[in-house]
Amino acid sequence: MSKVYNFSAGPSMLPEPVMARAQKEFLNYNGLGMSVIEMSHRSKEYQALADEAVQDLRDIMKLPDNYKVLFMHGGGRGMFASVPMNLAAKDGTADYVHTGAWSGYALKEARKYTGVNAIELECLNEKGQHSLNMDALKLDPQAAYVHYCMNETIHGIEIFEPLNTGSVPLVADASSTILSRPVDVSKFGIIYAGAQKNIGPSGFCVVIIREDLIREAAPFTPDICDFRITCDKGSMFNTPNTFAWYLSGLVFKWIRDEIGGLEAMEKRNAAKAALLYDFIDSSDGYYVNSVDPAYRSRMNVVFNLRDESLNEAFLKEAKEAGLVGLKGHRVLGGMRASLYNAMPLEGVQALTEFMDSFKSRH
Ligand SMILES: *Cc1c(COP(=O)(O)O)cnc(C)c1O
Repeated sequence: MSKVYNFSAGPSMLPEPVMARAQKEFLNYNGLGMSVIEMSHRSKEYQALADEAVQDLRDIMKLPDNYKVLFMHGGGRGMFASVPMNLAAKDGTADYVHTGAWSGYALKEARKYTGVNAIELECLNEKGQHSLNMDALKLDPQAAYVHYCMNETIHGIEIFEPLNTGSVPLVADASSTILSRPVDVSKFGIIYAGAQKNIGPSGFCVVIIREDLIREAAPFTPDICDFRITCDKGSMFNTPNTFAWYLSGLVFKWIRDEIGGLEAMEKRNAAKAALLYDFIDSSDGYYVNSVDPAYRSRMNVVFNLRDESLNEAFLKEAKEAGLVGLKGHRVLGGMRASLYNAMPLEGVQALTEFMDSFKSRH
């Protein structure tokens, strides 16, 4: 295969064995003489596949019995609206922890539906690095829920421990970190993720929700955004994205059968991130990552070249070396290497070797 290493922030790399299997069975799924993309979602064959995907996700995440899995539309941003419509009242409030771009977008959307108490955690530490001030986490015990972003995809900031919110439900946007490591699901009310980073095709959203949070939504809530309707209908109130569901199911099997589960996934991801951060930190300032090591994302490594006038040459030569998708987000500039689950260690080795040779040549 003549493939590149794709460091794009999303949609992003998917595991090659998954893509190969999807290709192999694309025209004729399971001997049925048709593609999975052509099958009725009401057929017993599709239902079997759909149930298996949910069960496989439950198994790899070790979901407690009182949590449901919902598959919804509209990706991560769809949930920015669905969460407040389902959990909060117009005259109530929700706490929104602000740690970067994505948590900011979430709280802006939520303001349409409920009162929002924004809790600003972004700060600079004593070394001038981007950090989070956890002492500023002052929560309202009356809030409908606390929302935070587990991994700020744009800023490269990850919060590794679930926030302690007492009895107030914790809602996590895990779009860019879900399935990268084990989490204690019992600490959360909802974990949701747009699929296109660690799971599968875009437009699809995985929602893990504690049963007691499935209740009456605000009266104006569109039915396709309603958690209770989605749950009662087995995520098939309307036609789901059948192909995304299928492909996500293959990714769950890949994590379980070929990686060995989330503990093994975490080891792999920690090794990849350490390789790149250590390389950057020992480049004598040629490359700089300015995130506090305690919050450095394992999934999205943002960095700058000391001499930013070399950015274009860097991207051009990286591309020639088969390393693509490294341009930073337009909000921050610089570079970003996304090291999602599907990125092998060899890809990160190839990147650090390229960065080393670029440094010696420029
Ligand atoms: C990508 C991303 C989203 C947006 O997902 P869409 O599917 O494009 O709506 C939301 N939150 C985080 C943290 C993301 O990384």
